Amino acid sequence: MYKIAVAGTGYVGLVAGVCFAERGHQVTCVDIDEKKVEVMKSGVSPIYEDGLEELMQKNYEAGRVDYTTDYQAAYKDADAVFIGVGTPEKADGSANLSYIATVARQIAESVEKDCLVVVKSTVPVGTNDKVEQFIQDFLTHDVRVEVASNPEFLAQGSAVHDTLHAERIIIGTESKWAEERLMSIYEPFGLPIVSVNRRSAEMIKYASNDFLALKISYMNDIANLCELVGADIQDVAKGMSFDQRIGNKFLNAGIGFGGSCFPKDTKALEYLARQNGYELKTVKAAIDVNKEQKLKLYNKASKRLITFDGLKVAVLGLTFKPGTDDLREAASLENVPLLLEQGADIYAFDPVGAGNFAKVYPEGRNGNGTITYVSNVEQALKDANVCFVFTEWGEVKALTPTSYKELMKTPLVFDGRNIYSVEEMKKAGVEYHSIGRETVM
Ligand code: NAD
Repeated sequence: MYKIAVAGTGYVGLVAGVCFAERGHQVTCVDIDEKKVEVMKSGVSPIYEDGLEELMQKNYEAGRVDYTTDYQAAYKDADAVFIGVGTPEKADGSANLSYIATVARQIAESVEKDCLVVVKSTVPVGTNDKVEQFIQDFLTHDVRVEVASNPEFLAQGSAVHDTLHAERIIIGTESKWAEERLMSIYEPFGLPIVSVNRRSAEMIKYASNDFLALKISYMNDIANLCELVGADIQDVAKGMSFDQRIGNKFLNAGIGFGGSCFPKDTKALEYLARQNGYELKTVKAAIDVNKEQKLKLYNKASKRLITFDGLKVAVLGLTFKPGTDDLREAASLENVPLLLEQGADIYAFDPVGAGNFAKVYPEGRNGNGTITYVSNVEQALKDANVCFVFTEWGEVKALTPTSYKELMKTPLVFDGRNIYSVEEMKKAGVEYHSIGRETVM
């Protein structure tokens, strides 16, 4: 059992902390946000993740996990401090490392015994070296502090499962001491561990994320071509998926990737390449395709309708994917303002993301249009003139083509996730526009 502190209680830090406790370690989760800490202490998760709250309550009651803003108390005698703070995108595409630097300084000024600092946040190659130097510069006690890289691969929506049953744990270290300590922290998980040097570990994270982003953009690129030449992207993907070199995941065409990782991690790697005098053409192409793809539905709808002014527009799904309340880089955030600008009256449904969306676009008048949040899909569709599907939530997938026909004033659907069968939409008499497939008029 190790005494572990985790800096940052977002999707990565909180899930990691609670899972370390679940595997028997003594964990203190640190955040600067006092409200968040209060909420967590009361057994409530500040983020939506399947199974997280149950594990938080179980391990809090067992005394294995606690939450605090008092970083000094948490770091001073920790065997390891995991850093899981944000590394958001800066205006030039590079990663903002200021949160990492703040935590590094706090660790340096707090630790009173030998400590392994583990960077879980996604950081550009070479950052771990700088963090280690930075900590040495500010250390106040004569103790051994080393930095290890341990990038996180969880996917939001299945974060707890992904952490407890990770396909691999990547650890990047520069000494036997650091490698052994990190391996032994992960020992109770019983998962495959790949041990490399720090820079390779940092690169594995970006290379993996950007490969997935590329796969999505490639399928979207092919989907756009399918539309032009009369092929069906779902049939194409199905045919491709049997080839084990390609695999059967991440072949769905849609309105582009969002979330807190792919958009920023593609830009950060492209930036890193540029800084090193290299042009990363493949990743650059993935970024460009994605940018255009986000507005694909809106552009299709704009060609079909004169204006959205005064129309009742059903918006199904606001989050960047199902299973999360996260809106970062969601397609809805790009499309909804355009619809509002044109005077649309939006009726939006999202089972967990509506609260966060309402912080940006409050219920009622927003510029030329209005937005109303409804608690079920039927309310959103009732008497609507047009419908946009941005997120493939279960409630949206469960809708039948006939329900669109029956509930909407005019059954005109723009589906950014290719949820429904073209044939069934045809049979139901719904005008149906999707991605990379035949349009049903
Ligand atoms: P997040 O924004 O959800 O959470 C960051 C948390 O850190 C916030 O609660 C914030 O209050 C806290 N914080 C900021 N400064 C702090 C400090 N000095 N001390 C303690 N807490 C502090 O971030 P996230 O989505 O969990 O991502 C964290 C990192 O992990 C990023 O680098 C991201 O790229 C990477 N990552 C994210 C995911 C994901 O799916 N979200 C997956 C893999 C990797």
